[in-house]
Amino acid sequence: MFKLPQLPYAKTSLAPFLGDEQMTFHYEKHHKAYIDNLNKFLETDPSLKGKSLEEIVLSSTGGVFNNSAQAWNHTFFWFNMAPAGQGAQPSSELAAAVTRDFGSLDELKAKFVDGGMKTFGSGWIWLCVDAAGKLSLVSTSNAAVPFTNNGPVPLMVADVWEHAYYVDYRNARQKFLETFWSHVNWTFVSENFASKKVRDLTKAMI
Ligand code: MN
Repeated sequence: MFKLPQLPYAKTSLAPFLGDEQMTFHYEKHHKAYIDNLNKFLETDPSLKGKSLEEIVLSSTGGVFNNSAQAWNHTFFWFNMAPAGQGAQPSSELAAAVTRDFGSLDELKAKFVDGGMKTFGSGWIWLCVDAAGKLSLVSTSNAAVPFTNNGPVPLMVADVWEHAYYVDYRNARQKFLETFWSHVNWTFVSENFASKKVRDLTKAMI
């Protein structure tokens, strides 16, 4: 059984970027529903017993994949944010890789926002790193994650499903994505870059 992870900040502390109603629906309703649905599969499918959340994501299809991946994606999303002014700075190693692969942090931000705008329908925009240390932006649809099929390791993500921003931003996805950048938890992102491994989120959810 998996549980809804604790947020690493007070639920209202991302406001006005994400207000109480936006956070309540997204975290306590949408995210919780994916975890509840995954737990129903766990009750009836003995092959899932004892697996980490990451192992389930990597080995499943259909409803098990959709709900396990959405359980993982949302935990990663909450963890890669921080209240304004509390997100620290990119590590010097990550900052150097951003300059090498995007030109500057501002260029990365512009391309990340553009990638989120071009993600058609429901999905996610990710900053990733491959085994050689090269950074890239990856757009995924619905529940999909970058790291299936030996894909790259996620460093950071923004949820661009409408439910992620519609309470506070209505249809203004771009404003949501631009404001997201003032709330990035660079400590979390830099740790992912240093490890170059898919983040273990299971321990926060059992
Ligand atoms: Mn979401």
